[in-house]
Amino acid sequence: MLKPALEPQGSDPALLDRLAAIVGSPHVIADRDSMTDYLVEPRGKWPGSAHAIIRPGSTAEVSAVLRLCQETATAVVPQGGNTGLVGGQMPMDREIVLSLRRLDRVRAVEPMSNSIIVEAGVTLARVRDEAEAVDRMFPLSLASEGSCTIGGNLATNAGGTAVLAYGNARDLVLGLEVVLADGRVLRGLNTLRKDNTGYDLKHLFMGSEGTLGVITAAALKLWPRPLDEAAAFVGLRTPAEALDLLALAQKQAQVTSFELIPRIGIEFTTKHAGARDPLTEHHPWYVLLDAASSTVGGAAADIGNVLEEAFERDLIGDATVSASIDQRRAFWRLRESLSDVQRLEGGSIKHDIAVPLSAIPTFLAEADAAVERLIPGVRVVAFGHVGDGNLHYNLSQPLGADQASFLGRWEEVNAVVHGIVTRLGGSISAEHGIGQSKRDLLPEVKDPTALALMHTIKQALDPKGILNPGKVLQR
Ligand SMILES: Cc1cc2nc3c(=O)[nH]c(=O)nc-3n(C[C@H](O)[C@H](O)[C@H](O)COP(=O)(O)OP(=O)(O)OC[C@H]3O[C@@H](n4cnc5c(N)ncnc54)[C@H](O)[C@@H]3O)c2cc1C
Repeated sequence: MLKPALEPQGSDPALLDRLAAIVGSPHVIADRDSMTDYLVEPRGKWPGSAHAIIRPGSTAEVSAVLRLCQETATAVVPQGGNTGLVGGQMPMDREIVLSLRRLDRVRAVEPMSNSIIVEAGVTLARVRDEAEAVDRMFPLSLASEGSCTIGGNLATNAGGTAVLAYGNARDLVLGLEVVLADGRVLRGLNTLRKDNTGYDLKHLFMGSEGTLGVITAAALKLWPRPLDEAAAFVGLRTPAEALDLLALAQKQAQVTSFELIPRIGIEFTTKHAGARDPLTEHHPWYVLLDAASSTVGGAAADIGNVLEEAFERDLIGDATVSASIDQRRAFWRLRESLSDVQRLEGGSIKHDIAVPLSAIPTFLAEADAAVERLIPGVRVVAFGHVGDGNLHYNLSQPLGADQASFLGRWEEVNAVVHGIVTRLGGSISAEHGIGQSKRDLLPEVKDPTALALMHTIKQALDPKGILNPGKVLQR
């Protein structure tokens, strides 16, 4: 177990001057008002408290900053777009926030080798645009893509809506450039598809949430752009039927996304987000299915065949296929507003769970019964990437309930839901990570040997414990 070996932040009066000498005074932010943007996270659950925000503009500056922090035992919290949902990017104890947003250069785009090299602070939306400009596709897609950065995506091993077809963020990476805690630079920015020269170190840093190194650039895989994409909005009776539909669709179409939405989600989005219910009849559950094809008109045709067979087998109640790009976007806007609209229905207690695909119906039945026993009238808003076995099992407070006392039961509810997840062989963090939110739960769910190895790796790469202390692992 790591021992804290850190000086109280700010004890060295010359520290900020020395940091300013590296990054330039305009890029050292120490007044409270200017720091606010960096210290408030999307959930409003983990307020940050920082000594200063440091904004390096190059890998060399990141390296010099970390060398100085190592020398002075100064704790550093790496931060990208500040869209993380588990508090990993928030300083807890007046650490220094190392904002990577100024590392925003696209270093190379190589359509021939289907690769792009970008610095850590480039937003995900920009990577997708750069790929599109050379008739390629970068498949990672999150509702936060306008703000989140590639560095943050890789540090959290983000998931999103296209994991079913292309994998998690780590599967989209060819090489990484990483600055280690002592300032050394690991130069691994190759675009090779094959490289079996020993341990594949890049995977240590992906999903490590800034606790093992600072990602400064990444070589990413690109794909040919599909000639056709289409979406279907499908109404059905049960989650089990949704899984049968998935199996059928994967046989007959190139399915890229398969998202589950409950009826209450349609009610919330039509009420609060101006969405239009895509189907005329009400259904207990909905699926938003996206498919791609390498022939013009192929995606819609494939989806049409899938739906025809699904109707014949009585798997689905109703469905509509997007007739235009705008309609497909409208389906996705509805799906992407599901998290936000819950805020307008009072407090919500959230989970980001995964179970084996076949256990989804059991999980939902057991969890729904358990949370109703705990909080009668609680409104379950379970939605998400069901094709990956991943659900955002969110709970809105009962109508008329007191928000504060509902939210006060967060841990108690988590314990019950996570207990079911663990029993079913699942994960309590499918895609958002551990951060500070689930750090103390990790020892309860992680294999003890795996947890011990994680501590050994942390100790080897960051012996002074300066990188994002208190995140992922207990100190
Ligand atoms: C509306 C919305 C929708 C979202 N949808 C999804 C979704 O579908 N799937 C999903 O997986 N997530 C989702 N997220 C969560 C979030 O967008 C992702 O975790 C994203 O990858 C974080 O990127 P970021 O640049 O904002 O990182 P930050 O929030 O700044 O940081 C996240 C973590 O990464 C570390 N970090 C950041 N940059 C670096 C770096 N360069 N080197 C080392 N460590 C670093 C931080 O220390 C922190 O631990 C969503 C968030 C919002 C607000």
